Amino acid sequence: MTRLRFATLGSGSRGNATIVACGRTVVLMDCGFAVNETLRRLALLDLCGEALSAIVVTHEHGDHMGGVARLARRFKLPVWLTAGTYRGGGAPKLPDVRLFNPHEAFAIGDVAIQPYPVPHDAREPCQFVFSDGDQRLGVLSDAGHVTPHMRRCLDRLDALILEFNHDPQLLAAGPYPPELQARVGGQLGHLNNHQAVELLEAVDRQALQHLIAGHISEKNNTPTHVRRTVAARLPAEAAGMTLAPQDEGLGWHELRRHG
Ligand SMILES: [Zn+2]
Ligand SMILES: [Zn+2]
Repeated sequence: MTRLRFATLGSGSRGNATIVACGRTVVLMDCGFAVNETLRRLALLDLCGEALSAIVVTHEHGDHMGGVARLARRFKLPVWLTAGTYRGGGAPKLPDVRLFNPHEAFAIGDVAIQPYPVPHDAREPCQFVFSDGDQRLGVLSDAGHVTPHMRRCLDRLDALILEFNHDPQLLAAGPYPPELQARVGGQLGHLNNHQAVELLEAVDRQALQHLIAGHISEKNNTPTHVRRTVAARLPAEAAGMTLAPQDEGLGWHELRRHG
């Protein structure tokens, strides 16, 4: 029986890419890595460029879209993105552009995809909930704060990849200039550890099989800060969570069926 499974190729401000697969459908969400690096990381998952079905893009920032156009041209991949992301990314030369409305579901092969808009300093940013019709994987990689709509979209998930970008104190004491600190910590920036935990507390987590912390800042956060913040309020989740690294991927995670 085919099941929804996922893996990351890397997560953080130096590049993001996530694989979501079901049956013969293999969707790449974002690609912030150069082609050769992407192929090297795909190979570690027993995948090659030809195995990809399509690329879906959350927003035009380089750590998410920097590698998309070259990879899409090389393997003639359809690229799904919002009109704002397409324009915000400079309307790159893509072999097959598929524009979507960030409130409307669409499907790529066996993978159903529900996009949802997020507050982030890009032109028309969104994030996704992927499903095989039974299991649901939510992804939230870049958002300055959590809206009620986002909480509804991320309720009762079976798996979640969630941004734990920074610790507010480390950000304030860290190396970023004041403008960049304000941007990262602002309403259109990135989720801090406490905001991520508050989101977890606000949703029904009964079915959650996998919790992955992602987009962890290397300058304004540490794995210890992430784990400590979650453990202080959600010890069970802290014990079971995995932290997605930047310099390497996270291997396949499969979702178990209900019942
Ligand atoms: Zn990002
Ligand atoms: Zn971003």
